[in-house]
Amino acid sequence: MNPVCGVCGRDNIFTTCADCRMPLCDGCARFELLAEGCGTVIPAYFCPSCVSNPFANPNAIFWQMKEKN
Ligand SMILES: [Zn+2]
Ligand SMILES: [Zn+2]
Repeated sequence: MNPVCGVCGRDNIFTTCADCRMPLCDGCARFELLAEGCGTVIPAYFCPSCVSNPFANPNAIFWQMKEKN
């Protein structure tokens, strides 16, 4: 049995949330670049709830303006 997307239930898993490890399909994953130290950015994918959670994502404030929950 394949894992399904923790958000919409589709079975085409694309990645997992960088914070809560929820499986995500390509439609539900939120791409983010996390600044780390000086000049280094780390690509990460979050689920829709973690991407707007300031404890999980330092850039959450931008998503809170963009995402409508
Ligand atoms: Zn999904
Ligand atoms: Zn998450």
